[in-house]
Amino acid sequence: MAERPDRSDRSDRSDRSKRNRYDRQRFQRERECRFCASPSMKIDYKDIETLGRFVSDHGKIRSRRQTGTCAKHQRKLAKAIKRSRHLALLPFTGESLR
Ligand SMILES: [Zn+2]
Repeated sequence: MAERPDRSDRSDRSDRSKRNRYDRQRFQRERECRFCASPSMKIDYKDIETLGRFVSDHGKIRSRRQTGTCAKHQRKLAKAIKRSRHLALLPFTGESLR
């Protein structure tokens, strides 16, 4: 005998999936490069926590404008991100796109 679960799910529609119009302005402008500001911070392809901050939701590397990283460190950062992508530590694309 097949047992049927009782279908009494009351889905409460309280979540609003409204898009925030001010998303673009949400980027905090940082004037100084984080890596220059704190020399203890190092760019490492294994350090996905740090690298993750410089990657968008879609997995793209965030631009210098958005993050305030200097040219020197942005170069290193981009290499580290690409390296960690190759090792599957970081995604090439966002999880929502899969
Ligand atoms: Zn820097």
